[in-house]
Amino acid sequence: MKSLIKLSLLGILLLLVFICYSLKDKMLYIDKNESLNSINPFPNSTSSISGNKVDDLPQTENSSTISADKIDDMINDEKIYTEKSFEHREIKIYVLGKDSCKNKMAILGSMHGDEPQGKYIIEQLMEYVKRNPEAIENKQILFIPNVNPDGLFRNKRGNANNVDLNRNFPTKNWGSIEEDKNTAYFPGSAASSEPETRMIIKYIGDFNPELIINIHAPLKLINYDGFNSERIARLMAKYNKYKTAGDIGYPTPGSFGTYFGKERNIPVITLETGNDKGEKAWQENKESILSAIQNLGKF
Ligand SMILES: [Zn+2]
Repeated sequence: MKSLIKLSLLGILLLLVFICYSLKDKMLYIDKNESLNSINPFPNSTSSISGNKVDDLPQTENSSTISADKIDDMINDEKIYTEKSFEHREIKIYVLGKDSCKNKMAILGSMHGDEPQGKYIIEQLMEYVKRNPEAIENKQILFIPNVNPDGLFRNKRGNANNVDLNRNFPTKNWGSIEEDKNTAYFPGSAASSEPETRMIIKYIGDFNPELIINIHAPLKLINYDGFNSERIARLMAKYNKYKTAGDIGYPTPGSFGTYFGKERNIPVITLETGNDKGEKAWQENKESILSAIQNLGKF
């Protein structure tokens, strides 16, 4: 009789252990679900959870109905960096488009302060692609509208030190033509002596674009340097009807085109607009620039 009671008690004990164990699993399961519900979808929604699972999650106030792809677009839509000129004026660098895009282009303007066309055209281009994001679909573009704010402020070619930034790049032929500090083509006291030159090398070098457009004025000419750049120049010329040239006709030691185009083999288009400024300059060159963007990856 005693052993029967002992057996019954042991049975009850085992049953209790079993029930407890089942409940524990159940509680863990609830915990897992709750932690999924409270995941913030912004940081790692695409990498840690597949798209379908994100959609399956119950909606909370924070997770709204935006798809994971859309959130990714929003995060990577625009980056803005700020650097300073010699006189501490702001130089803004903008990047539009997703980091995952392979086709990259950089566009910069007003390297010469008496050429405001570049700044205006690039600002209009940025507004255009923000209104028409399909124009840069699968592409990432770096914009520096105003490379030389000190020069633009004075309406003069050089920067605050009267250095021609387009002669200040650390090319093999830097300084091979002697220029006085008071001339328009003074290459600086040393290669890349100017903060504006170093800013360009840092941002465009790190960005590593497949095409660079550098806007100048007033020759109405598409000058090209580097691998395959002639094809791009010819395509762009169809729209603005400018002449194309592999050689601008005079030596340019320490130039941007020599540094990135000739010595690093990145296609560089030096787009020389006409004398017209503002809206006329933009309208004259809009389709040329958009055609280059549209054909990234196909040159
Ligand atoms: Zn220029």
